[in-house]
Amino acid sequence: MEKLQAIRGMNDILPEEALEWEYLESTFYRVVKSFGYREIRFPVVEQTQLFKRSIGAVTDIVEKEMYSFDDRNGDNVSLRPEGTAGCVRAADQHGLLYNQHQRLWYQGPMFRHERPQKGRYRQFHQFGVEAFGMSGPAIDVEVIQISAMLWKDLGLTQYLKLEINNIGSAQDRKKYAQALTAYLSGKVDELDDDARNRMHSNPMRILDSKNEAVRSALVDAPKLCDFVNQDSKTHFRKLKELLTALEVQFVENNRLVRGLDYYNNCVYEWTTDTLGAQGAVCGGGRYDGLVRQLGGRETEACGFAIGIERLVLMLRSLNKIPASALRPTDVYLVVVGGSLESEAFSVAEAIREKYPHLGVICHCAGGKFNSQMKRAYTSGARVAVVLERDGEAIGPLMEGKIRSLDDGAESIVTEIDNIPEKLGKFFGNSEG
Ligand code: ATP
Ligand code: MG
Repeated sequence: MEKLQAIRGMNDILPEEALEWEYLESTFYRVVKSFGYREIRFPVVEQTQLFKRSIGAVTDIVEKEMYSFDDRNGDNVSLRPEGTAGCVRAADQHGLLYNQHQRLWYQGPMFRHERPQKGRYRQFHQFGVEAFGMSGPAIDVEVIQISAMLWKDLGLTQYLKLEINNIGSAQDRKKYAQALTAYLSGKVDELDDDARNRMHSNPMRILDSKNEAVRSALVDAPKLCDFVNQDSKTHFRKLKELLTALEVQFVENNRLVRGLDYYNNCVYEWTTDTLGAQGAVCGGGRYDGLVRQLGGRETEACGFAIGIERLVLMLRSLNKIPASALRPTDVYLVVVGGSLESEAFSVAEAIREKYPHLGVICHCAGGKFNSQMKRAYTSGARVAVVLERDGEAIGPLMEGKIRSLDDGAESIVTEIDNIPEKLGKFFGNSEG
C-alpha cells in the first residue's frame, strides 16, 4: 500500500533535532523566568473572527495565509497564525487584564499557508512574550532586553541586528494612509497589480513591496515619520535612550511597518544575514489598541514573537549548540549471557538514583557482546557498563566492567555494588 507523507510545509522533528529544540527551549524558559514572566497556554483553534479583528482583514496573513474552515457545527474557525490574538483573548476572558500588570510568555505551533522554503513553513513554532498594563517606554525596553539576553545566552548577539521604527498611533497612520493613497493615485501606471489592489485598502503594505518598479515609484512618497504625533515621538526618543544606556545596539529603519495592523508606536525586528532570504528571527512592538479592539477595556500592551525554526537553523549552522546538549544518552548497559536482566535493571536503577541527570539505557534485547557494543557506540553514550557471564555459571553475578566509549581506554573491573561509585570518574560524584 502507498505510504502517506506529512503535509507539505509541515515538518517532523526527529529525535536528533528535538535535542536542539530542547536546548533552545530550556534556554528560553530560563531567560523569561529570570524576568518574572509566567506561561500562558491557549488553543490552537479560535474563531476566525478573532484573527480578522486583530491582525487586520486586509493583511497578507488574513487574506492569503490562514487555515480557515467550517467545523462540523458550521462555525468558521482558523488555526492560529500567530499568538498575540489568542493570548489577548484568553487573558481578557479570564480577567487577567483589568487594572493589572501582566508579564506572560507562550510557545507553540502556528499555521500559515505560505510557499514552503528554507525558514518558511506552513506549521512553524514561536516563542512569544506579552506584557500588559504598562504604558511608558520602560516595558518596551524590558521586552527587547529579554530577546537580547536570549541572543547573548545562545551566543548569537553578533549575528543579529535590531531594527526599530516609530509607526505612531492608528490615527496618525490613517492620515498617512490618505496622503499615501493620494500620492500613489498619480503613479498608478508604475504600480503592479498587488500594489494597485492595496492602494485604497491598505496602502502602507505597499511600502515593503519587493518589486523594483514599485519601490522606485515610492521614492518621493510622503514619509510616515512626518505624520507621527508628539507623544509617540517622546515615547520613542526615551525608548532609544534606554536602549543606548543598556548598550543594546539598534538601527532605525523607517520602512519597517510589520505585517500586522495592531501595532502602534515602537515596532521592531531582529534580523540576521546568516539565513539567506528568511532573515527575520523576531518581530514585535506595542499594541495598545488591541485589547479594546477585541472588546476588552483600554489596556497598554507590548510583546514580541520569535520564530523557533529560524533560530534552530541559525544555532545549527553557526555550531552554537554545546555537544553536551546533543548527547542523548550517557551510560549504556551491555548485558551478555543468561538471566542477567534483573541484575542489569538493579544496576541501572542504582546509577539513575545516584546521577539523576544522566541518561541510562539498559540493553533489553539480548545478543552477542560485539553487537551490543555497537549499539552502545551508536547510542552516543560516553560509558558502557558491561555485565557478562558465560552460559554455565550459576549464582549471583559479582563483577562488572566499566568502559569509556569516548577514548576506548582500558576497562575498569569492579564489584557490582561499586559500579555507581566508580562512574564518578566520568560524571563527577553526585551529578551528571
Ligand atoms: P516574514 O517577513 O519572514 O514573513 P513575518 O513578519 O510574517 O516574517 P511575524 O508575523 O512577525 O513574521 O512572526 C514572528 C517570527 O515568526 C518571524 O520573525 C519569523 O522568525 C517567524 N515566522 C513567521 N512566519 C514563518 C513561517 N511561515 N515559517 C517559519 N517561521 C516563520
Ligand atoms: Mg510573513
